[in-house]
Amino acid sequence: MSGTAEEPSTVLVVGAGPVGLTAACELARQGARVRVVEALTEPTTQSRAVVVQARTQEHLAAMGVLDELVARAVEITAVEVRSGAAGTLRLRAVTTGIDSRYPRALDTPQPETEAVLAALAARLGVAVERGVTLTDLAQDDRGVDVTLASAAGTARQRVGWVVGADGGHSRVRAAVGERIEGVPDGGHFLFADVAAATTLPSDTIRLFAGPDGVSGAFPMPDGRTRFLLQVPAAGPPAQPTLDEVQRLVDERMGEHWRLSDARWLVGFEVHHGQVERYRRGRVLLAGDAAHVHSPAGGQGMNTGMQDAVNLAWKLALVSTGRAADALLDSYHAERHPVGAAVVRQTTRLTRAVATQGPRGHLRDVGLLLLGHVPAVGEAVAASMAEVRLRYRGSPAVGGGAGVQGACPGDHAPDPEGLRAVDGGPARIGDLLRRPGHLLLTTCLSRTSHERLRAVLGGLGTVVPVRPGPDGTADGPVLVDPGGVVADRYGIGHDGAALIRPDGYLGYLSARTDPGDVARHLAEREHLVGVGSG
Ligand SMILES: Cc1cc2nc3c(=O)[nH]c(=O)nc-3n(C[C@H](O)[C@H](O)[C@H](O)COP(=O)(O)OP(=O)(O)OC[C@H]3O[C@@H](n4cnc5c(N)ncnc54)[C@H](O)[C@@H]3O)c2cc1C
Repeated sequence: MSGTAEEPSTVLVVGAGPVGLTAACELARQGARVRVVEALTEPTTQSRAVVVQARTQEHLAAMGVLDELVARAVEITAVEVRSGAAGTLRLRAVTTGIDSRYPRALDTPQPETEAVLAALAARLGVAVERGVTLTDLAQDDRGVDVTLASAAGTARQRVGWVVGADGGHSRVRAAVGERIEGVPDGGHFLFADVAAATTLPSDTIRLFAGPDGVSGAFPMPDGRTRFLLQVPAAGPPAQPTLDEVQRLVDERMGEHWRLSDARWLVGFEVHHGQVERYRRGRVLLAGDAAHVHSPAGGQGMNTGMQDAVNLAWKLALVSTGRAADALLDSYHAERHPVGAAVVRQTTRLTRAVATQGPRGHLRDVGLLLLGHVPAVGEAVAASMAEVRLRYRGSPAVGGGAGVQGACPGDHAPDPEGLRAVDGGPARIGDLLRRPGHLLLTTCLSRTSHERLRAVLGGLGTVVPVRPGPDGTADGPVLVDPGGVVADRYGIGHDGAALIRPDGYLGYLSARTDPGDVARHLAEREHLVGVGSG
């Protein structure tokens, strides 16, 4: 073993799956020193999680890589749920009505998502250290000693913080004494990534409920389809054949697909559960290391990537000394309930789908009735797209005085109808490509703008919102002739809205008061050295 190297401000991300890579990119983008170690010497080729939901797309857009992913994906605008051997349609949820700039899902094999993120990490100066396995860690008040094994030997190094994004069998999780608490049987599944000739349009994910559980077809690029088939515990073996998968697809989903060219066929048991604490001192758990559940709703990777986005800006501020470490407690407070809800819902869904007999009949009738209520389809689509997630009541959000409609902790609306000073279209989502916070103010006083800039300092950007393009601008300005910001943010024409780097509203007020913004940043976000305004 070589000696201990000291990197006290470095954040070590363990695992270069989608969650570790998202964390690494966001940490680097928000100014942290970051390293990533990955046990595999080459990226995985298994298609695994194929659905990228709308909220995740909003984050990828802020990171500047959404277009790259779109070019590698199929756009999905509907999810259908059918039941019975005849495949009777019970529910069709279309995504086009969901409240997002990207009202669709993207289907693409997980390695494509990872490749896009790895390329961004490289552009940001973060090289994934492949073939390096974390074998142990121990922490004290000032840092974390990690033991890293590679072909070159074993090295002990000291870093400031560790993000455990090392998947369902997380070594980091075990090393800090956490374990997945929950139901050990989430079901057995067959996964197949195959070429599938079909006449069905590729814009729809198709799910089928049957006595053996859920079956699903997820269209992917290049004429491939990802099938997911729940099987009894004593069902087909861990390495199913293409013929077995074809038989199950025909039996359960109708004879719509002719399969060939199997790229990935595997049987897999999923567990449902979650760790008790996402934060253990200087070690933070994210993604499958923190929560595991059925893949049926396409939420696992998305929930994990959103964990990473929530955590990264906070850890970037803390690891660079710009915030006290109490800010990290809000990571657990905000994300643990989200993970718990996903585990709860997917457990219920998996059980409900597999229900047989009179209760199964009741389920089918219920689905049929609900399927005729458009609001239900919309709710299902919005829930799967994860666009209703919010952190109301979090210890890191505050304000709200005089605000109507929106609430601190909600996701920042990204309304149409805004312009830049040159008259071109402008979106708040595009401004989120700047690292740091965005502070929108509908107050027209230049003195107030200057005082807000003094409060925010280098932590972000103040964006005045004006009714017309008049006057000069020292930085970005939004022109809002229709008053959509005043309306959608509920802050009226003299208010302020603080958008955190993860796109959620940290603070809202119907009055622009730089002193109050400063108090919020110091007391709720634990930022140090914030100007008094
Ligand atoms: C076989 C399989 C099929 C799946 N199918 C679906 C699906 O159909 N739909 C769906 O939504 N989700 C599916 N998932 C789950 C989905 O892949 C995960 O939710 C997602 O990958 C979570 O990302 P992650 O980054 O947290 O973990 P992972 O993707 O597991 O990444 C963890 C990374 O950490 C590395 N690592 C592990 N230990 C160490 C260590 N000690 N040191 C260094 N590196 C380490 C691993 O090599 C890996 O690259 C599937 C998962 C598996 C395993």
